[in-house]
Amino acid sequence: MSISRRNFLKGSVAAGTVMTFFGKANAGAPVSESDPQAKSLGYVANATKADKAKFPKYAAGQVCSNCSLYQGKAGSTAGPCPIFAGKDVAAAGWCSAYVKKA
Ligand code: SF4
Repeated sequence: MSISRRNFLKGSVAAGTVMTFFGKANAGAPVSESDPQAKSLGYVANATKADKAKFPKYAAGQVCSNCSLYQGKAGSTAGPCPIFAGKDVAAAGWCSAYVKKA
């Protein structure tokens, strides 16, 4: 089977779009807790609801807004996070990829 030039170009454009998408942390729709990636990372929009049994590293006071990966503006209620590219996490949220802001 041969790949036509047209299909090859289409594929290249699609790959470029995907790379752009993941390269930027655009503001977007809120991350859903039922999203498979959110579930696997234990993301919750309210950090106090973190599953402490499953994610014992959670400690009270850890929230997205004081995580080094959070890219929302100071005082914002939600903002981008590279873990969930293209979507917004809640400032009061938490996931197991939490890294304390230095
Ligand atoms: S990595 Fe940090 S900012 Fe992103 S969802 Fe997890 S706790 Fe929130």
